Amino acid sequence: MSDKTPAAETGAHIPAGHYCFKLGDWQVMALHEGVTSRERPENFVRNASEDEVESAFVRIGLPAGQLSLTFTTLAIDTGRNLILIDTGFGENGEATTGRSMANLAAAGYDASQVSAVLISHFHGDHITGLLRKDGTPAFPNADVHVPGPEWDFWMDDARMAAAPAAQQRTFILARKVFGALGARVKTFQWDEEVLDGIRSVRADGHTPGQSAFDIRSGGERMMAVADITNNPLIFARFPHWQAQFDMDGDRAVQTRRRILGEAAREKTLLYFYHAPFPALAYVAEREDGYEYFPALWR
Ligand SMILES: [Zn+2]
Repeated sequence: MSDKTPAAETGAHIPAGHYCFKLGDWQVMALHEGVTSRERPENFVRNASEDEVESAFVRIGLPAGQLSLTFTTLAIDTGRNLILIDTGFGENGEATTGRSMANLAAAGYDASQVSAVLISHFHGDHITGLLRKDGTPAFPNADVHVPGPEWDFWMDDARMAAAPAAQQRTFILARKVFGALGARVKTFQWDEEVLDGIRSVRADGHTPGQSAFDIRSGGERMMAVADITNNPLIFARFPHWQAQFDMDGDRAVQTRRRILGEAAREKTLLYFYHAPFPALAYVAEREDGYEYFPALWR
């Protein structure tokens, strides 16, 4: 017997991991960032009853009354570049988060090798990890590519002044993070080839400027769809549901149906930021929504 306190008791240990697979000529790595759980806010889905929402959560095995979330970031080694899509919380989140960098290291890479970070939108779970706890860049050699429409919204001082309290912290966080990164930050527009083989796709509604990414290499394709759903096991099945976190609920529903509909028709491999690890799946159309199929590991 070891006299060390078991990791399970300290809460220090979070299970695996990282999952690597080939997309064409590229090596892609899903990196588990962590999990959070808290009481589900009242009216979490604006246009469904508490009973409907509770039964949808419980049906897939989630704890009653809770909002449990999981986070997965994505790294891509193109042979020339190491690209990261969204950062997670890094050193600045709850103890059950911030695992992406340890998992990147487990895959054999170092944060200093990251040459580009692509950001889907400016919510804290996606950008907080751009800085270390001491405020210095977590990826010292990376350019940080952000959606122009997202930048225009969150960096607008008049909008910040007029925003409800719940949104203030995102305005403040965006100023802190991107202020510290200065000229490393580059904006891109929707439908632009941000990097070779990676095109941005309009995905607004969750936030005003969210971008998905259409990723192609060697004749293979996948889409990083960020937060077009909260938990996709729920919101693919009920695509018309408007979660509290969707700033423009109607637009979020339109975006969800457009991207999931196309992915269902074209059998596109999807990476959802809030799906169970390794967060890779296919969807298929059903009467009033989409069925979610975890992708087989390969
Ligand atoms: Zn998110």
